[in-house]
Amino acid sequence: MARRNNRICVICGLLATLVLALPTSARAQNGAIDWPRYQDMAVDLMQQYLRVNTSNPPGNEIEAAKFFKKIFDQYGIENEIFEFKPSRANIIARLKGNGSKRPIILLSHMDVVTAEPASWEVDPFAAVIKNGAIYGRGALDMKGEGLLHLMTMILLKREGPALSRDVIFLGTADEEVNDEGSLWMIANKADLFKNAEYLLTEGGDNLLEGDQVKIVGVDVAEKAPFWLRLTATGLPGHGSRPVADSATNRLIRAMNRILDWETPVKLLPAVEQYFKDIAALQPEPLRSRFANIREALKDPVFAKALASQREFNFLLRNTISITMLSGSKQTNVIPNAATCNLDVRLLPGESPDDFLKALTEVIADPTIKIENVNRFKPPNSSPINTELFSLIARKTKENYPTAVVTTKMLSGYTESQLYRQLGIVAYGWVPIYTTAEEDEGVHGNNERISLRNVRQGTREFYEVVKDISR
Ligand SMILES: [Zn+2]
Repeated sequence: MARRNNRICVICGLLATLVLALPTSARAQNGAIDWPRYQDMAVDLMQQYLRVNTSNPPGNEIEAAKFFKKIFDQYGIENEIFEFKPSRANIIARLKGNGSKRPIILLSHMDVVTAEPASWEVDPFAAVIKNGAIYGRGALDMKGEGLLHLMTMILLKREGPALSRDVIFLGTADEEVNDEGSLWMIANKADLFKNAEYLLTEGGDNLLEGDQVKIVGVDVAEKAPFWLRLTATGLPGHGSRPVADSATNRLIRAMNRILDWETPVKLLPAVEQYFKDIAALQPEPLRSRFANIREALKDPVFAKALASQREFNFLLRNTISITMLSGSKQTNVIPNAATCNLDVRLLPGESPDDFLKALTEVIADPTIKIENVNRFKPPNSSPINTELFSLIARKTKENYPTAVVTTKMLSGYTESQLYRQLGIVAYGWVPIYTTAEEDEGVHGNNERISLRNVRQGTREFYEVVKDISR
């Protein structure tokens, strides 16, 4: 790990000098923005950013913060790094508006999950270009988006109109582990951004099929992780003389009851809207059923078939995945304790206490201890009747007339949850369009972003932020 870090640093150092040599004027003769030149620059900066190894743990986001700082300084964009712990840092940069509108924040986390180089086709931190894509850990989650935010800041500074609102770039540490970066900013530096009207970050869920943009999903709400640990205890002993109600046996029976439990279906208005929005993309009879999803779900056969599909099931109910398991460390030892962890995800509006009560009844074994093992963050959502949402929908339709723009609730968590608590309208949206296969690279192997997404995304993201900030 240390050796790779060294090598990356050398490459970054070299390439950083290249950035400084980029053209000083990128306006074409007729005064229009010279897009090819900015798009070449975006590709180059994307590669540089992906070469900064911010695998978390340990994070080392200070290197990414310095990467951004150098560029912001070069373009005269006011910025500040906050190193809240050794090598863990956030960076904020700001373009000033005239204050007639409240700021917009472009939020991206700079850390990435770890990568297993042996399972990749290329070095995950070399930013190799192959088959029309740049490979690198974080290309989609979410350095690609951070790059579009950076390009928008540069473009606004050099080419943009006078701004009515501040545009704030916020790069944070540790989203992939504990949100320490954002939590630190909110606890210590909220004065710098808490009056914002809007925030754009990850969570947008778009679908590309072939070269057709099918769905553009703006994330306005997410499910909430409510992680639990079950502990069963019982008489220990030698494996040669079974104990009928041993800790392991009790736990397995409890898990079995959990697996058999179908949590109630609850159709939230946003989810109902989502099914209506994507109905047109379905063949009959699914099309009619999605268009009238509330009615359709009353048919138990249809409800069961729909819930059997992973991509739809989580939208309709609280879900439970049994993940960690532990019992004895030896085959011939009956342990006195056995545990399992449940990754429970609650729908917005659900009460963890009510869920716990229902689960306790399902388990029906008072000797099994149930405890919450994460910091529960109540799910929240943002309204869609805003100028920004309409603008995203309109611009998307201009670029991709047949695409469906919708609001898909995320199964995962994003930091939008933290910023919504400040009264900020937070959306997950990015003009990066990926196929189902490309999506597998997120937290998986061979994560990559297509050159087309980098080039075209630079322009599409800039145009939305420019228009909302005029
Ligand atoms: Zn992410």
